Amino acid sequence: MDFPAFPDTGHPITWPDGHRAAASFTFDVDAESCTIAHNPQSTRRMSLMTHQSYGPKVAVPRLLQILHRQDIRATFFIPGFTAECYPDVVRRIADGGHEIAHHGYLHEPMQGIDSATEARYLDRGLDALAKAAGVRPTGYRAPWWELNWHSATLLADRGFLYDSSLLDGDAPYRFSVAEGDPRDLVEIPVDWALDDWEQYAFYPGVTGSGVIESPAKVLEMWTLEAEAHHAAGSCFVLTNHPFISGRPSKAVALERLIDRVKSMDGMWVTTMEEIAQHTRDSVQQIHTHARISVPEFPDTGAAFTPAQVRQQELTTAGPAMSGRTGVGV
Ligand SMILES: [Zn+2]
Repeated sequence: MDFPAFPDTGHPITWPDGHRAAASFTFDVDAESCTIAHNPQSTRRMSLMTHQSYGPKVAVPRLLQILHRQDIRATFFIPGFTAECYPDVVRRIADGGHEIAHHGYLHEPMQGIDSATEARYLDRGLDALAKAAGVRPTGYRAPWWELNWHSATLLADRGFLYDSSLLDGDAPYRFSVAEGDPRDLVEIPVDWALDDWEQYAFYPGVTGSGVIESPAKVLEMWTLEAEAHHAAGSCFVLTNHPFISGRPSKAVALERLIDRVKSMDGMWVTTMEEIAQHTRDSVQQIHTHARISVPEFPDTGAAFTPAQVRQQELTTAGPAMSGRTGVGV
């Protein structure tokens, strides 16, 4: 399929060394942390714990082989707790020439937490990565891609270069950390369609609908996404979790995807840090994220607030179709 070029005109960027687009393969090594963050009692469930530990124990070595064979460098977002449990795995990733980036401490729920609490999570995660592998990350991805309005200031305070948790672009951009603050961060946006959790994740009573998609279908879907980003000159960012996409047939599909993306003419396949550094060096425009103020409800004559109307629609329509719970990043 030939795609027309539909560039992200809100975030114009040119790529270095004659490249026409960029791609980065990223792995969120959540392991046990994301289930424990949801429910600390989950450590009592032996089988559930092994489902998660498959990531660092079995999948990461397999994925490192694939990345070595394909001769590309990737970015691994690692919660501090994962680093404490599997320091040798973290060191092995770093020794492979890959980027280690921050992904919270215990993959904590981020929604609604205050700045001081989030600062503690960030610092604990930084300490764990330093102890495990002597790494000081420049990149951050919020657990569940849930950035708060105060997060960027905390990241700038700690010297981070970039974040990858927001969803408002096809290409990286710079944004002001806060009104009146001269500092900025690079954002490398993500997309739920490029997250393996939605395609493959299932654990009874914990996550997923019970449908585990075919890797052939997922390969086709992600190839189309990569081709469209290539045509548009934007940035393809894939988010995979080793405990999900490191299983055999999914790993085979992933390697085929890497091979295809590498073969796209002028595609720059590299780490998120390299993309962020290039963005910081080459883009002049600094964006701001303005918070939306809520208009007064109800409108004149309205019987319900929009939330009540929505609830009534759901009640009338019956239960939600997806049945998915606990989707994650
Ligand atoms: Zn995660």
